[in-house]
Amino acid sequence: MADRYLHLTGTAPGRFLTRRLGLPQPAPLRRWTLETPHLDGPLLHLTAGASAVTGVAEALRTSGLTVTERADRPAAIVLDATGVATAAGLGDVHAALHPVVRSLAPGGRIVVLGTVPSPDDHHQAAAQQALEGFVRSLGKEIGRGSTVQLVRIPVARIPGGASAHAAGSTLRFLLSPRSAYVSGQVIELTSAAPDSDSGSGSGSGSGPTPITDPAAPLTGRTALVTGAARGIGAAVASVLARDGARVIALDVPGAREELERTADRLGATALPLDITAPDAADRIAAAAPDGLGVLVHNAGITRDRRLANMPADRWASVIEVNLDSVLRTTDELLKAGTITRGGRIVATASIAGIAGNTGQTNYAASKAGIIGLVRSLGPRAAADHGVTVNAVAPGFIETKMTAAVPLFIREAGRRMNSLSQGGLPVDVAEAVAWFAQPESTAVNGQVLRVCGQSLLGA
Ligand code: NAD
Repeated sequence: MADRYLHLTGTAPGRFLTRRLGLPQPAPLRRWTLETPHLDGPLLHLTAGASAVTGVAEALRTSGLTVTERADRPAAIVLDATGVATAAGLGDVHAALHPVVRSLAPGGRIVVLGTVPSPDDHHQAAAQQALEGFVRSLGKEIGRGSTVQLVRIPVARIPGGASAHAAGSTLRFLLSPRSAYVSGQVIELTSAAPDSDSGSGSGSGSGPTPITDPAAPLTGRTALVTGAARGIGAAVASVLARDGARVIALDVPGAREELERTADRLGATALPLDITAPDAADRIAAAAPDGLGVLVHNAGITRDRRLANMPADRWASVIEVNLDSVLRTTDELLKAGTITRGGRIVATASIAGIAGNTGQTNYAASKAGIIGLVRSLGPRAAADHGVTVNAVAPGFIETKMTAAVPLFIREAGRRMNSLSQGGLPVDVAEAVAWFAQPESTAVNGQVLRVCGQSLLGA
């Protein structure tokens, strides 16, 4: 269902009228294309006080942008606030960004680098937590399709201090058109990087896995995507194939025709299979004899009713598809070693699992369950299997699922976020692809909202 309002505000009379009426002004978002893979302009690198980490400049240079300490019209600004450890130090954050924030180009990016709030030093914890409120507020006021995020770099307990080296893939994602619909997010990197598949299998790697072809980082890896016949799943399959993965696209046998069309288009293998089948894990393992480098749990259903009107079967089917089958297949595929060392598991939550939603007690419970799963399993899967476990939590994404939502609720869903528009399936797919990268070893147990900073559950 096309977003006619976005089209209207893109015309001169439409813009005039909607501005006069004080209505939202969604800016068209630029997504990644082969021709325009980078933001259009330099990256301004600023520091608030003294940095507490090394390697920031090196990590920023891998973004593909020209890094500078002075720019009239930056496409991106990275503020290193890792050294801010007191309330007074927050003044340095204001002093660094206040003079330049207005000069950010439309569709620009601001990334603030922080560290993890300390359990032992409440002054440092207060100052670092303050950055979260700062980033979320700036995301809401910046406008013109720009985004703002906070990336926390862990303080290493090694001589020489913490390094931003492991943040490379995360910064590349956030500082590119791939993160167009991600804003107001806090990403906490881990220092306990799991093994790569080329490692010794000792269970503790030392950093990100280097990739051989930056344009196709998933070359040589097999990725399985559930619910891949259409919507977000088809977009995920497409982006992972673009990034070089051999893709297995799974969907229910009833969607076989659509699944085969999608798979053919992508050069993928179609696997018609109901993910709730008792032998689903065995059939997936049989379809991937060399193992899986990436497993994306995307299949999901809604069976909405208020709790008082919800029969047990509607409750059970949503929990079964959205949560129980994810838990079961994950456990079985990890245990069988089908997910190879250096592997990536990405599950699909929802902002409904964070904020809750009328008529969706079953759906929201299942999606909140996914968040519990990734936070608990992430560290253990890394230690035991060398595998990361993360989740995307989409907001309002333009798919068949949301096209079926009644008009007024649909319009509210589209506008009630900092970017005043719905996201596209590719926005979720790009986030999945970032989690899936071999170099994203330090990204684990995270839930990334792809919601344009939705006001729900903010
Ligand atoms: P969709 O309904 O368009 O696609 C879901 C796909 O999953 C379908 O192809 C369906 O056949 C498949 N599927 C359902 N049950 C299955 C099963 N038992 N086994 C195998 N495949 C099965 O939905 P979508 O909008 O593309 O959503 C994809 C995921 O994103 C879902 O988990 C959904 O809950 C989540 N999500 C979507 C939105 C949104 O705005 N569209 C927002 C938040 C979360």
